[in-house]
Amino acid sequence: MDENQNIVIKKALELGLQAYLLETKDIPVEYRVRLKCIYGCRSYGKRLTCPPYIMGVDEFRKILAEYNRALLLIKQEDMSNETDVLKAWSYFRRESFHKMLELEYLAFRQGFTYAHLLRPGACNECDTCVEKCIKPEFYRFPPEAVGINLINIMKKIGKKLVFCDPSNIKCIGILLLE
Ligand code: SF4
Repeated sequence: MDENQNIVIKKALELGLQAYLLETKDIPVEYRVRLKCIYGCRSYGKRLTCPPYIMGVDEFRKILAEYNRALLLIKQEDMSNETDVLKAWSYFRRESFHKMLELEYLAFRQGFTYAHLLRPGACNECDTCVEKCIKPEFYRFPPEAVGINLINIMKKIGKKLVFCDPSNIKCIGILLLE
């Protein structure tokens, strides 16, 4: 299985993604992360891939316990020259997600039957979400929406997660591998 895992990692690098192997026991899941979604996020209740529409922290913790390893995926970009950073970030997020989803499909084909991607940021495949997702094949939730503390994960790999710095924008996803 390690050979298949290496195929997935190699593909990640080809797609321009940084990939770090994690043991799932080292992935911190915390209620306080979800708190930030519910109180203060301008998009709360607007995207079907985020609270209150997705599973809670406890349910996700149980699911995570059924996996042993995961790949932390990072796409980094310097957007300091962009005139409209929010628009550029939206495009960047979608593009990064598609690359990460390609990896999930590859992992499945390599025998990781339960491979599952936690996407970078809230879904933005459509301008707005309607009552029911109209592109269910793209329906994935982000790590922070189920309580994963990305700041602490980044610390574990020796990196710092800085917010609101256009010169160092990161899209972060997690691919559960089993
Ligand atoms: S695919 Fe469209 S409808 Fe579905 S969650 Fe994403 S933005 Fe919303």
